[in-house]
Amino acid sequence: MRPEILFSLFAGSDSLKGVGPRLKPLVEKLAGPLVRDVLFLSPSGVLRRRRTTSTQAIEGEIAVMEVLVDSHIAPKKPGQPFKVRASDDTGFVHLIWFGGSPQHVQRLLPRGERRIVSGKVERFNNEVQIAHPDVLSLDKIDELPMSEPVYPATAGLTSRVLRRIVLAALDQAPELPEWQDSTWLARQGWTGWRPAIQALHEPQTEADVGPDAPHRQRLAYDELLAHQLALARRRAARVTAPAPIIRPGEASAVVEAALPFRLTGAQVQALAEIRGDLASGRQMGRLLQGDVGSGKTAVAALAMADAASSGVQAALMAPTEILARQHHERLAPLFARAGIDTVLLTGRDTAAERRGRLLALAEGSAGVAIGTHALFQDGVRFRRLGLAVIDEQHRFGVNERQRLQAKGDPAVGAVHLLTMSATPIPRTLEMTQYGDLEVSRLTEKPPGRTPITTAVLPLARMEEVAERLKRAVAEGAQAYWICPLVAESEAADLAAAEGRVVELRTRLGVEVGLAHGQMPGPDRESVMAAFAAGTIPVLVATTVVEVGVDVPNATIMVIEHSDRFGLAQLHQLRGRVGRGERASSCILLYGSGESGELGETARQRLETLRRTDDGFEIAEEDFRLRGGGDPLGLRQSGFPAYRFADPVRHRGLMMAAYDDARLLLNRDPDLVSERGRAIQVLEALFDWRSHRPGSD
Ligand code: ADP
Ligand code: MG
Repeated sequence: MRPEILFSLFAGSDSLKGVGPRLKPLVEKLAGPLVRDVLFLSPSGVLRRRRTTSTQAIEGEIAVMEVLVDSHIAPKKPGQPFKVRASDDTGFVHLIWFGGSPQHVQRLLPRGERRIVSGKVERFNNEVQIAHPDVLSLDKIDELPMSEPVYPATAGLTSRVLRRIVLAALDQAPELPEWQDSTWLARQGWTGWRPAIQALHEPQTEADVGPDAPHRQRLAYDELLAHQLALARRRAARVTAPAPIIRPGEASAVVEAALPFRLTGAQVQALAEIRGDLASGRQMGRLLQGDVGSGKTAVAALAMADAASSGVQAALMAPTEILARQHHERLAPLFARAGIDTVLLTGRDTAAERRGRLLALAEGSAGVAIGTHALFQDGVRFRRLGLAVIDEQHRFGVNERQRLQAKGDPAVGAVHLLTMSATPIPRTLEMTQYGDLEVSRLTEKPPGRTPITTAVLPLARMEEVAERLKRAVAEGAQAYWICPLVAESEAADLAAAEGRVVELRTRLGVEVGLAHGQMPGPDRESVMAAFAAGTIPVLVATTVVEVGVDVPNATIMVIEHSDRFGLAQLHQLRGRVGRGERASSCILLYGSGESGELGETARQRLETLRRTDDGFEIAEEDFRLRGGGDPLGLRQSGFPAYRFADPVRHRGLMMAAYDDARLLLNRDPDLVSERGRAIQVLEALFDWRSHRPGSD
C-alpha cells in the first residue's frame, strides 16, 4: 500500500503544469511516466553564465551582457538569419535568429533600448555573435541564474523546457518523514531528503552533478537502502516459509563413494552450508558461485541425492538440451547406484518417452528429474518436489525459475532453491544482485588440472596460429575458435565468422563446424554435440559455447578480437579448455588487419587474464578497470538500473545499506517504530518490489 503522502509524486507527469498530451510521451522517454521520475531525473551537466562585455566574451562560453540595441537587419535572402546589431562601451555584438517572427524580435529588442542578453558566444567573420539569445529587461537581471542544470534532451523537448517541468515537480514534492538515522546523517554531513533533491536540481559546479556530491550520495544511499530492504524482506519471507526437512542419508554416501574423485575442501564446505539450510525446515535460497570447472555439479548432485533419500524429489534445470543431456548421462548412473531413478525431460523427447517419464515423476517412482525448460511446462507434475537446482541461472528468467518452484505441493512445503552461477562477480555486486540469497563460493579448483597457457597476439600473426593449430589437430586435439558477435554489426560479424570457417577448412584441411546464436536451436545443438563427440575437430563459434558443456578433449581456445569481449566473458571462454589431462592453451588475438593497435585499458585487461586464472580476482579487476558504467554487462542480465547509485563509486554505501537493512528488519520486522514507518515511505518511494532483479 502506498502511503498517502506520496500520492502527488505517483501521479502521471501530465499532472504537472506545462505537461500536456504532446509532452507526456517525451517526458516519459527521458524520465519516466510519473512525477517522481521527473523529480529523480539527474542533470547531465551544468550550464554556467558569466557577466562580460562584447570584447571580453570568450568563444563558447555562456555570456551575459548589457547592450544598447542599434539596428535591425532583415535577411536579404531566404535562409539568412534576422539580425540585431547591438553594442556596449567596448564594441559590437550581433544577435541572430533563424526562422521565427521578426516582429517578435523587434518587440523584444526595440531600437535605442538597453537590454540584458545572454547566450553562447560565437565568433563569425571576426564579429561576436549570439544565436537565439535570452533577452531580459535591465531590472530582471536577477532572474537569470548564473548556473543552471542541463538535462538530457530529445527531439521536441529541450533541456530548458524540461527544467521548467522539473521545477514544477519540485514544487509538488512533499515534506517526507526522515527515514535515515540522524546520527548517520550527521556523520556523513548529509542534509534531509527534500534539500538533497533540491540540490540535485540546482548544481553550481560540475562536481555538483557528479556521484561524489553530498546530495547525490544521500540520494544514492536512499536508493540503495530501499533496494536492500526489498531484498532483505524477500529473504525474510523465505526463511519463514516451511519447507521439507532434507537430511543426508545412505544414498548420498553411495553417490559420493562412486564419484571418481574426492571432493575439494571448497566443495565440502559448500555442501555443508547447503545441508545446513536443507535440514532447517525453512526454505533454502542459496546461490552456488564457482568458476567454470570448479565442480558445482557434484555438490548439487549430493544435495539432490539427499533430497531423494529424504522422500522428496529433486529437479535439475539446465539452459540447453546438450547440457541437460550431459548432466543426465553423468548423474543418472551415479543416482542409480543409490537406487534413485532419474528421468530426462527436454523438448525433443518422443511422445512415448515423455509419457513414461511424466508418469514416473507424477507417481514419484523417479526421484530426480533433469531437463531443460521442458521441466516447468504445464503437463509436468511432481509427486513431491522438494529441491529445485538451476544450473547457469543467469540464462533463465525470473518467471522460469518461479514456474519450476511452483511445481511444489503446499502440503509438502516450499521448494528449496539452489541456483548455480559460473560468473564470478565482485562481492559488492553479489550483495546487490543477490542480497536475498545466501551465497556459497567454490574458491578452489579441483586438483590435477593442467594449467592453461595464455598468449596475447595481434591478428596479423594469424598464419602462425593456424600453423600451430594444424599440428595440434593432426595430433588429435580439438579447438574452439571464437568470433565476437556485436549487435551493432551483427551481419558483418556473422559474415566474418562464416568466412573464418571457410578459411580454416582450407588451411587446416579438416572439418570445421560453425555454431552461432542465430542458428535454429536444434541445428546449433547438433553441431555442438558433434564437436563434443569429437567428430568435428574445430568449432568456430560466437559466444554460444559459454554455457557449461564439458569437452575434455578440447585443448585450444582461440579468441578473435579478444579486446571486444568483457574480461569476465573471456575468462569464461577460456574455462572451456583445460578440462582434461593434456596441456591447454588460450590464444587471445586482437586488432584486425596489419596494424592491430591495442589501447591501454584493453592491454591491461588482457594482461590480467594472462596473469591469473582466478575468476573472483578477474572479476574484481574487471570491475576496477571499467570503473562503473556497466560493469560486466550487468544491465542486460537483470541487474538493477540505479538512478543515483553507482556500484563502483558508492560501494561503501552499498555495504552500509546491506547491513542497515538487515539490522532494521531484525529489530523491527513489521516496521512499526517511528523510523520503521518512515522507512515504509522510503520503500514505497523507490518501489523496488515491482522491479525484478535477476535473483528472484
Ligand atoms: P562447473 O562448476 O563448471 O559446473 P563441473 O561440475 O562440470 O564444473 O566440473 C568440471 C569437471 O571437474 C568435471 O569433469 C568433474 O567431474 C570434475 N570434478 C568435479 N569435482 C572434482 C574434484 N573434487 N576432483 C576432481 N575433479 C572434479
Ligand atoms: Mg556446470
